[in-house]
Amino acid sequence: MTTAGHDLPTETPWADPMQDNETLHRDLSETGIDLEGVRRLFKRFCGFVARDRLSELSSEAQPETVAEVDLTAAFAENLLRVRGKVACTVRRMCARCLTEFSSQVFAEVDRLFVPGSDPAEADSCQEMVEERTYLDGHPLSIAAVVEEELLLALPMIPVCQQACAGLCPTCGADRNQEKCSCVETTTEGPFAVLKNLKTV
Ligand SMILES: [Zn+2]
Ligand SMILES: [Zn+2]
Repeated sequence: MTTAGHDLPTETPWADPMQDNETLHRDLSETGIDLEGVRRLFKRFCGFVARDRLSELSSEAQPETVAEVDLTAAFAENLLRVRGKVACTVRRMCARCLTEFSSQVFAEVDRLFVPGSDPAEADSCQEMVEERTYLDGHPLSIAAVVEEELLLALPMIPVCQQACAGLCPTCGADRNQEKCSCVETTTEGPFAVLKNLKTV
């Protein structure tokens, strides 16, 4: 099997990420990576994917900006390698204090794609280390790659700030905004004994 050689294009030509070059910066929302074109020469895709193309991402985090894209596609040993960076500012709800906040999601991309369909039966070597996606004859949608990568890069538990104090469990006040009068029950309190009895 020729793809087992792992002779990947490790040194794809790579310019400064997110460089602001208007001539390069274009709408990639509907762009597919044309395999035949990339076979001859590596290609750089610099631009953005529109917000309305990020519907899967929207179910987890509301995009506030377009997704910035800087990807390079190169072909070697019958593998398409897509590398680069994607970023998007999204709005989410803090898991501790329940306020909405904006944050930038950033992902470093390094993905392998195989032209053709998944030869699940053709090769018994299933325990490939790298994750590969079979293209099945379709051009590779940049929007789909960008969205997948952003979803993977989202923090599992969104917090507005690492030091977020969250809500008071007693009165529900946002402890980032106000100091409520609730006193944390200490073991010295007169009812500490009762509390201990309850939990036993
Ligand atoms: Zn918070
Ligand atoms: Zn309170």
